[in-house]
Amino acid sequence: MAVPRKSPATRLIVGGLLVVGGSVAASMLFTHLSFVRFGDLEYRGAMWAAAIVPLLVAPTAYGWVALLSWRLHLANAALDTLARRDSLTGLDNRRAFVEAARARLAAGESLQLLVADIDHFKRINDSMGHAAGDLALVHVAGVLTQAAPHGSIVARIGGEEFALLVPAATDPAALVARIAAELAHMPVPSAAGLKRMTCSFGVAAAQPGEGLDSLLSRADAALYAAKDGGRDRMALAS
Ligand code: GH3
Ligand code: MG
Ligand code: MG
Repeated sequence: MAVPRKSPATRLIVGGLLVVGGSVAASMLFTHLSFVRFGDLEYRGAMWAAAIVPLLVAPTAYGWVALLSWRLHLANAALDTLARRDSLTGLDNRRAFVEAARARLAAGESLQLLVADIDHFKRINDSMGHAAGDLALVHVAGVLTQAAPHGSIVARIGGEEFALLVPAATDPAALVARIAAELAHMPVPSAAGLKRMTCSFGVAAAQPGEGLDSLLSRADAALYAAKDGGRDRMALAS
């Protein structure tokens, strides 16, 4: 039978009672032993007790608090990582992307943004099921990560929408061709059958001093143009 775990509040209260109770018990025990050993307490015995009691109690109490703080720190760090990661693909999520992209643009880096959206993704879900759709998203995330040049940020910023923030020197047409080729000869892995996937891309080069909101909206507009133009292609922002 599973033993129910104590709530964090209960554990804190029990821990506090143990630390305070332990300190009082240790202090009383040493004072008592000093009386037993020396009868009427004299200066040397009292000083020894005064030194030994905190030496024993303080590290225990401090160690307990330090352990709790360290565990809290680790839990916070894990939560922070979770809050920034897309749980399905393992990529940065939109929040992490926005923070990182803003920081790099503010630092004056020369960058360009590619927004990629899987074409007719709903059909993949409808024909092969949601689980196969999930596999397809993981697959695309892997292809984008492999294709992205060194120093890029690759993130899942929407359901079937991804962002690649790449150095300005990257040739977007060559990058998109590389991604399309990978998607073409690596079909969606699914027990239900193999299906080719394509993406449409909107590309915007960051202008000096341009913020992320403006860059994203220009790349989005280009993405819509690529969709309107027939999908499976790239469009450059004006
Ligand atoms: P288009 O070519 O115009 O982009 O068409 P589309 O079908 O890709 O776009 P639409 O916006 O019509 O559909 C997107 C679909 O993506 C609908 C939604 O159910 C699906 N989707 C969003 N997030 C997930 C997910 O995490 N897993 C799965 N399996 N499907 C998802
Ligand atoms: Mg789509
Ligand atoms: Mg979409």
